[in-house]
Amino acid sequence: MNWTALPAFSDNYIWMLDVQGLALVVDPGDAEVVLAALAERQLTLQAILLTHHHADHTGGVAALRQVTGCTVYGPAFEVLPEPVQRLSGGQCVTALGAEFEVIDVPGHTAGHIAYYCKSLPANGSAAGVLFCGDTLFSGGCGRLFEGTPAQMLASLDALAALPSDTRVFCTHEYTLSNLRFARAVEPDNTDLQAYEAHCQALRARLANTLPSSIGQELKINPFLRSRSPAVRQSVLQIKPQASSEVEYFAALREWKNTFQ
Ligand code: ZN
Ligand code: FE
Repeated sequence: MNWTALPAFSDNYIWMLDVQGLALVVDPGDAEVVLAALAERQLTLQAILLTHHHADHTGGVAALRQVTGCTVYGPAFEVLPEPVQRLSGGQCVTALGAEFEVIDVPGHTAGHIAYYCKSLPANGSAAGVLFCGDTLFSGGCGRLFEGTPAQMLASLDALAALPSDTRVFCTHEYTLSNLRFARAVEPDNTDLQAYEAHCQALRARLANTLPSSIGQELKINPFLRSRSPAVRQSVLQIKPQASSEVEYFAALREWKNTFQ
């Protein structure tokens, strides 16, 4: 099983998995990019996995289905280009011989889901993979367009509980700007400093910074660390009245929204 990041728009990645001539893509916002990759590698598109309804994740679905006849899977309760095999937390979908477990991760949108596979067949590695759409980014998390801070915190907690070697396939290359904010939150986090230098070097040669891993994110992502003393101390500078877990998380997310 191979994975490929197909860059789309200004900072999206359409993740493609392929094995033995068959492929699946996650959140294809743009059909042209996918069709070009399929043609170049002589792959047949078998399935599309959708995490949420935003156009930069679904814009290519209709055209890809028309050309390839692939099956489309997506969240149970969002408006999507029909027909879609509807999925919600705890259900499984098998594609390319791999079984993906669905995790409900509301917050960015009300019905956002993520796909977790414990181990990809014939991948030469035991590590699992996670397609998390716009819920978890390297160094950050999605904006709260439809859900509450409490929902997003619970969603991120569910992802953080996955095995630490799980590869995290996010949909956007937001890493460097996220890390700039993370550094403002945790200026003394040496793991964060090292990771930022590593990612800066990758971006300097236009390489992508993904996939990340759950273990890496637990060390550097302030949104997975909102209960840590260092993060709480910084949040209190911005929001002195924060006291509950959710209030700290909400204040951190609001801080990021206005961070320059
Ligand atoms: Zn989105
Ligand atoms: Fe997006």
